[in-house]
Amino acid sequence: MSIKDLRVDGARLRRSLETMAAIGATPGGGVQRLALSDEDKQARDLFVRWLKEIDCEVSIDEMGNIFGRRPGKNRELPAVMSGSHLDSQPKGGRFDGVLGVMGALEVMRTLHDHKIETERDLVIVDWTNEEGSRFAPAMVSSGVWVGKLERDWAYSRTDINGLKQGDELARIGYKGETPARAFPIHANYELHIEQGPMLEAEGRTIGAPKGVLCLHWYDIRLTGTANQVGPTPMAGRNDCLLAAAEMIQTVNKVAHLKGDMVATVGEIHNYPNSRNIIPDGVHFTVDIRSWEDDHAIGAWEVMRREFEAIADRHGTPIEMEITWRVVRAPFAEELVQNVLDTAAELGHSSLYMVSGAGHDCSYINQIAPAAMIFIPSKGGRSHVEVEESSWEDCEKGANVLLHCMLTSAQQL
Ligand SMILES: [Zn+2]
Repeated sequence: MSIKDLRVDGARLRRSLETMAAIGATPGGGVQRLALSDEDKQARDLFVRWLKEIDCEVSIDEMGNIFGRRPGKNRELPAVMSGSHLDSQPKGGRFDGVLGVMGALEVMRTLHDHKIETERDLVIVDWTNEEGSRFAPAMVSSGVWVGKLERDWAYSRTDINGLKQGDELARIGYKGETPARAFPIHANYELHIEQGPMLEAEGRTIGAPKGVLCLHWYDIRLTGTANQVGPTPMAGRNDCLLAAAEMIQTVNKVAHLKGDMVATVGEIHNYPNSRNIIPDGVHFTVDIRSWEDDHAIGAWEVMRREFEAIADRHGTPIEMEITWRVVRAPFAEELVQNVLDTAAELGHSSLYMVSGAGHDCSYINQIAPAAMIFIPSKGGRSHVEVEESSWEDCEKGANVLLHCMLTSAQQL
């Protein structure tokens, strides 16, 4: 059989995904496998076992990132890497992240079955805490790995119960010894569900994003004056929640000014959160994304000024924090083209697009050539229990990944 005819085992890929989906399965058909939870440990243990079964060299770094390396003929050459994340959102789906890890594993298993030797080493990776929902921010471990975030700062991040990320890594036995520092990468591919509606709407199978939108996070805190709601007249109140409501409207209005931008308030905390007390504290978040970093920064400047004016009008002092900014990641053109060409060779339709969601690939892209392979999300839904992609599309995506990795791995 010529290497061109090589295909992954779709049924085995489905079994791996179903086995992983059972770890942290929720009644609603989704998965809850928060970073560094007992479920995350269980998924990691299984993944490591599977890597060893196909003779991968396994290493775990200080951030708990798990690498499985399959030696090539020229070990001194930079490797070809692929992977994603095994952690999930609270009540998340069965495909987000895990598809990219199981897809890469299926590629390795296929090469192992057929005893195919590559020129370069192949590496598969599970990045710790991609989701950022238990410990903010997201993509923290790939961020540390490429040198954009500090390891000790990442260790100090706490969850809602005050537990530290570093301590939880140690607790589940995944605080490794290997420094969390990038090694030379020739090409990095990440297979992922689209998490949006574009592929389905266009009737295409494979998405080849030209890059990931920039991603900016802000935290806003307002202070007001609490009082009994009955005896306090409407005039002269310092109502934080009312001020926040106007600010949320502003976020939506400003996002509409540029076509390529999205801005969202997704989290709000109201204090003391009682029906008969005027709120005296509100904390909310703003998430702004755009293909143009300047548009996102410009939008924030407009919001910031309007927020100040609104806070002033309501007599509710405001504090604004820039929590996280990741610049847009235009992927390596040569690799994106490889995804498009490979899809065509395998007879799959494709779409050149952008990724609205952040991925570990955005950080890897800052130090090495990188690209992503998307498959359709049913109804464009993700980060929810009903998140769904067809097994056929998972298999097609894995075959595109297989041949993209092979092409890059045979380059000298
Ligand atoms: Zn993901």
